[in-house]
Amino acid sequence: MEKYDYLIVGSGLFGATFAYLAKKAGKKCLVIDKRQHTGGNIWCRDVEGIHVHEYGAHIFHTDSSRVWNFVTQFAEFNRYTNCPVANFEGKLYNLPFNMNTFYEMWGVTTPEQAQKKIDEQKAQAAALLKGQKPANLEEQALLLVGKDIYEKLIKGYTQKQWGRKCTELPAFIIKRLPVRLTFDNNYFNDKYQGIPVGGYNKITDALLEGIEVKTSTDFFSDRKKFESLADKIVFTGAIDEFYEYRFGKLEYRTVRFETEKLQEQNHQGNAVINYTEESIPYTRIIEHKHFEPENEAYKKNITVISREYSSEWTEGAEPFYPVNDEKNSETYRKYKELADKETGVIFGGRLAQYKYYDMDDVIADVLNRFEGKIL
Ligand code: FAD
Ligand code: UDP
Repeated sequence: MEKYDYLIVGSGLFGATFAYLAKKAGKKCLVIDKRQHTGGNIWCRDVEGIHVHEYGAHIFHTDSSRVWNFVTQFAEFNRYTNCPVANFEGKLYNLPFNMNTFYEMWGVTTPEQAQKKIDEQKAQAAALLKGQKPANLEEQALLLVGKDIYEKLIKGYTQKQWGRKCTELPAFIIKRLPVRLTFDNNYFNDKYQGIPVGGYNKITDALLEGIEVKTSTDFFSDRKKFESLADKIVFTGAIDEFYEYRFGKLEYRTVRFETEKLQEQNHQGNAVINYTEESIPYTRIIEHKHFEPENEAYKKNITVISREYSSEWTEGAEPFYPVNDEKNSETYRKYKELADKETGVIFGGRLAQYKYYDMDDVIADVLNRFEGKIL
């Protein structure tokens, strides 16, 4: 039987980047994936030339020149800048929270007026906290932007997304949203941002070029055979499954996408519209073509939209967001202890590390591992 240096389980961004760097280092790799396609969660479906982000909208953004220089070798990136809009009871607000939002919310037109309004609202929150640090998301949000924005743009959206009350969620979730006193709707503060021209498959296809890949192949369908194929295994699947759930199942939030093709050139005028009131069951609507306005298909009288419904993960659903509460962190810690003792298996990526990783974090992690040669 043919021997490989690495059997890579999973052809997502972690597995594909690993395979690319290993091949460059002269190693022989076999990549397997249980899905019918490569690319993991960044894979796009082609619908009449529109690249549909099948597993959720993906916007590449990073502060790292190293990651940006690496990823742009594989595709040209357009200058897409994520500027989501929030719809609350039919009224539109710009995100993240900036001068446009404050104007829409309060009619204020200068940074000074906006700051005054925010300060008034913050003071009310601070009075309630009586010097205590914010203990949950609600308190943190009230302290960050005040009651009006919290009630219209945060509360409903967050409770739908996480399926828990804002008073039961950790404060840090909301801290990563920028608050600016400028008319800047860019959702991210990072130096680099964009979408690969031609879609994300360009990147994973280029990373995997010249590497043996088997799709529709589940590692667990014949674990013994796969383990015997290579000197080392790079495992990017779920760590609890790897250990046969001996410490119990790790929990996730999942998202159900209701995707529709419409006979319209332009349905909502933006890639992302968030629905922030609680009575609308979906969290947001993505109109995929707006990620790539340079695409020929953009002009067509066809568009694809996805409504996103967030829910608790159940057997068979896609595990999307790890639930980093105490119970799950403790369970993961036990699995990690076993993983750390393995000498023939490398665990990497969002499922094996039970971690919410952005794409640039995944690339940086693989680059670091190759640099440090801790393989
Ligand atoms: P994955 O892409 O999940 O790849 C793992 C692969 O392993 C899959 O292809 C799977 O089929 C395969 N696999 C699993 N088990 C087995 C098995 N037993 N046998 C064979 N194959 C197996 N990041 C950003 O930077 N910007 C964004 O805007 C952004 N948006 C996101 C939106 C959503 C809804 C989600 C869930 C994530 C988002 N991310 C975003 C994060 C991004 O998706 C990840 O950083 C990246 O895809 C992780 O790559 P990975 O290789 O670790 O995992
Ligand atoms: N959020 C919100 N209203 C919005 C968008 C985001 O309240 O319109 C909150 C929500 O709690 C979310 C957090 O901000 O979990 C972080 O938002 P981000 O878009 O970074 O979340 P992601 O979907 O990337 O996890």
